Amino acid sequence: MRTGETDAVFQPHFSLTSPTHVVVLGAARSGLAAALFLKSKGYHVSLSDAGTIAEETCEALRTHGIPFEQQGHTQTFLTQARFMVASPGIPLTAKPYQWAESAQIPVVSEVELAWQFLQQSSQPPRLVAVTGSNGKSTVVSLLEAILKQSGFTAAACGNIGLPMIHCVELHESRPFDFLVLEISSFQLETTYSLKPHCALLLNLYENHLDRHGDMETYFSLKSRLFRCQDTRDLAILSGENGWCQALGMSLKQKQLGPQVQFFNTAVQVKDAHLYYQDQPLMPVSSVRLQGQHNLENIAAVLLFSEHLNLPASLLCDVLATFQGMPHRLEPVGQWQERYFINDSKSTNYLAAEKALASMSRPVVWIAGGQDKGGDFSSLAEWVQKKVKHTVLMGASQEIFSRALIQSGYNQITRVEGMEAAIHAAVEHADPGDTILLSPATASYDAYANFEARGDHFKHHVFQFLSES
Ligand code: ADP
Repeated sequence: MRTGETDAVFQPHFSLTSPTHVVVLGAARSGLAAALFLKSKGYHVSLSDAGTIAEETCEALRTHGIPFEQQGHTQTFLTQARFMVASPGIPLTAKPYQWAESAQIPVVSEVELAWQFLQQSSQPPRLVAVTGSNGKSTVVSLLEAILKQSGFTAAACGNIGLPMIHCVELHESRPFDFLVLEISSFQLETTYSLKPHCALLLNLYENHLDRHGDMETYFSLKSRLFRCQDTRDLAILSGENGWCQALGMSLKQKQLGPQVQFFNTAVQVKDAHLYYQDQPLMPVSSVRLQGQHNLENIAAVLLFSEHLNLPASLLCDVLATFQGMPHRLEPVGQWQERYFINDSKSTNYLAAEKALASMSRPVVWIAGGQDKGGDFSSLAEWVQKKVKHTVLMGASQEIFSRALIQSGYNQITRVEGMEAAIHAAVEHADPGDTILLSPATASYDAYANFEARGDHFKHHVFQFLSES
């Protein structure tokens, strides 16, 4: 196992001091925000997208005088740039990056750009950055809530929704005490100088191997989040995950490295109460977040709040009102004691394992979509333990079906589409069962994103409930 943070990282030289020509790749949320921001700062900005740009985005680009190309990148359009802003959706092996490399044009993420602009502020906000294979959005939301509850001005940004570059603009008019950033391995590919006041690595499991190739590469990208931290900073990592432990130990040995804290079993459930380090916190019945994995998320947040000397009671207040997030073990409704749950955000095997592990009732499991690869065996064990019937849909049907049958499990129905999946699940569910959508795959085979997939599930569940 490598210790990632020692990896040499290319630090592109680009200067923000004088506005110059920038090409932004990709017209999705963060690309558009970066283009508009740079334009407002006097940069000469162009935008290039391999796909079709939504009409309202084209309109915004025209209104702001930003030239763009769509349905393909052209070398001459791109290589006029003095630097490029990367799209997290484009792999580093793609043509635009090859052209950038041969023309020696630096490529940076929208996060890197935002960070460098924030450093020009007279009082930059403190940055809390969260990464890991699963749990990022949940932890980012909890951290934002606890900071606000304590009276700090804070905003959640990054993958969770609000582009970080947009926070730079907001910070100029109303300074933040903290930014809480959700950052993915895709963004870390082109992020170099980020120095979080507190960085969290929640876990690391096989994920995105279709893009990163192997776990070592994935791990070394996640490790980049910690490489600029120094003794004033804090690293919070899982004490139970091997990759996180290895990184934490190497950070501890690093001269002038960050303070390191591991979270593990510090939060437990005993006598129907949540305990932290053997102190009772609150009744479990008052906590809205479900599932053992959320105890790990809560433990990570508690370490951060201790670092700020915040009382644990603040987190209890937050936990009593925090609903959990849509598409993460979200209760949708029930029909004749069959309970529907939407866990569309389960985009990898581990998230589906955690969802199954949290289920206290027998499960009819709806799964499948665009497979990301990895070892299915541990998920197959959970299926054996918890799932009375599996309904497979989407592009991964063949792979999942083969893997389940190989593990000795054959209670499988294959269907086309969400509506058919819900009907097949209902047929196999008895009163008292849970019908769980937890796909264990990306959604892109049939949907724009996991939100669209979860909304489609909810739409058909509501339709079924209203017709039944
Ligand atoms: P992310 O932003 O990393 O995708 P989310 O908080 O959106 O994480 O949760 C994504 C999925 O992972 C959901 O299905 C959720 O139930 C599951 N999950 C949440 N926290 C954890 C955790 N600590 N370990 C494993 N799975 C988790």
